[in-house]
Amino acid sequence: MPKYIFITGGVVSSLGKGIACASIGRILETIGLKVTLQKLDPYINVDPGTMNPYQHGEVYVTDDGAETDLDLGHYERYTQTVATRANNVTTGQIYNEVISKERKGEFLGSTVQVVPHITDAIKERIRAVSRGKRVDVVLSEIGGTVGDIESLPFLEAARQFRHEVGRENCIFVHLTLVPYIKAAAELKTKPTQHSVGTLREIGIQPDILVCRTEKKISKAIKQKIALFCNVDENAVIEARDVKSIYEVPIRFKEQKIDEVICRFLKIECRSGSLHLWKKEVVDKALNPKKTVRIAIVGKYIDLQDAYKSIYESLHHAGIANDSAVVFKKVNSEHITKAKEDRIFKGVSGILVPGGFGMRGIEGKLEAIEYARTHKIPFFGICLGMQCAAIEFARNVLEWKGANSSEFNKKTPYPVINLLEEQEGVENLGGTMRLGAFPCHVKKNTQAYEAYKSQEISERHRHRYEFNNKYREDFQKGGMKFSGLSPNGKLVEMIELEDHPWFLAVQYHPEFKSKPDKAHPLFREFVSAAIRYQENGVTHPENGTAEEGKNP
Ligand code: GLN
Repeated sequence: MPKYIFITGGVVSSLGKGIACASIGRILETIGLKVTLQKLDPYINVDPGTMNPYQHGEVYVTDDGAETDLDLGHYERYTQTVATRANNVTTGQIYNEVISKERKGEFLGSTVQVVPHITDAIKERIRAVSRGKRVDVVLSEIGGTVGDIESLPFLEAARQFRHEVGRENCIFVHLTLVPYIKAAAELKTKPTQHSVGTLREIGIQPDILVCRTEKKISKAIKQKIALFCNVDENAVIEARDVKSIYEVPIRFKEQKIDEVICRFLKIECRSGSLHLWKKEVVDKALNPKKTVRIAIVGKYIDLQDAYKSIYESLHHAGIANDSAVVFKKVNSEHITKAKEDRIFKGVSGILVPGGFGMRGIEGKLEAIEYARTHKIPFFGICLGMQCAAIEFARNVLEWKGANSSEFNKKTPYPVINLLEEQEGVENLGGTMRLGAFPCHVKKNTQAYEAYKSQEISERHRHRYEFNNKYREDFQKGGMKFSGLSPNGKLVEMIELEDHPWFLAVQYHPEFKSKPDKAHPLFREFVSAAIRYQENGVTHPENGTAEEGKNP
């Protein structure tokens, strides 16, 4: 039987529970343990697939085609876990399951209640995530903040779980905030005491406290927290703000969180080091030799989380190229021909990410035309590829009104069309072409240069595709189809012949990039942007960007 760690959060949201959880996973892997990480989300949606990015941030897609919480992205980036459908559980899924059992009469006439029926279904999902796999430790992150109504059934299920498997098989880690009050020049422990108090009221005594803070937590404060929250002093772990999110595992390891966990769970704590992670990821992220500026042109750029994996992948590509990547986040709705020179001044690469609906499309087309005609490296992802095809049809092939049938059903040139399998699909949730599919890469292309392999697998999330009836015209005009589905029927990658680096893909490579193993396409895109910059065409210091920070 595996050991279990539940991770809860207190005081406020956005403390970085996902990153804390992923960091603990990484540390446990370095001491030779096999981990899997799971997110328990208290909302009633079955999955985040139909939610607005402004509500939820990015929808992360797993190999097996689940639309999940973006924390699963952190889990896969920090650890070896390959997330599946089983790694994200929502209240919606649990109720769905319990109610359909009830309709089938499976509860044999009993009153169906939160306790025990909902909590039993939750416990079953916690067990199921490691079933049939060799897993030493399951980390289950409970979404929301302790004290919320919504997360109560999950907390109750976790409490029961620990009672059933015993203390040496299950521990609780609570992430909390220790705020610094400037006027008093003091760190305050009271919010932590209250949130641990709230947890205790529902029968959970945390074993480890991870304390988010701006300032160093002194030994005296650790002692105070330990005393009032009833935890061991060495189980009070400081989580001070860091420059790069990839530093977190190192900071936790310095405080010997692995030894504390192993002591509680009665497992041997073998030695392990994060030396390579520090050298290959953190040191490079913190000490880049150069800087390159990339424009991300989308409609959700105000929200930090909407393109989470894209930003992370660009940082990974920066690390692989010894460069910092500075983001110029451009709202595509603000792009016009007159403003383009100013917007893209100092930019050495343009990326158009995925999206849905027609708002902001014309601005994306303008950005792509700018990249194509100014020979600026361009990377299009999903909708970004579809837009690149539309732009090419309109401006190179001179097909007026070319479009995707997603945006104009009556276009004379539907260069992007509904996938055949999507015709007649009525339900919106979970019905796109989702998950990992193989792709065949053609030799003598930028794509092959990057992958150095002809057989690849990438994750998808779309309903529309390139319309095959136009392939020949596009090829004659100078577009290459560098990646196709193995049966040759679906266009997965396009690129331009007469351009230093112009590549677009129907899939989402951002879901497979890691800090210590940048995705080949992101790596080569950033490398092309650096070459573009070094050729003297543009300099990053010329820009007037609204800039993102390093991770
Ligand atoms: N809206 C497009 C489609 O459904 C692109 C989807 C995406 O970018 N993820 O095909």
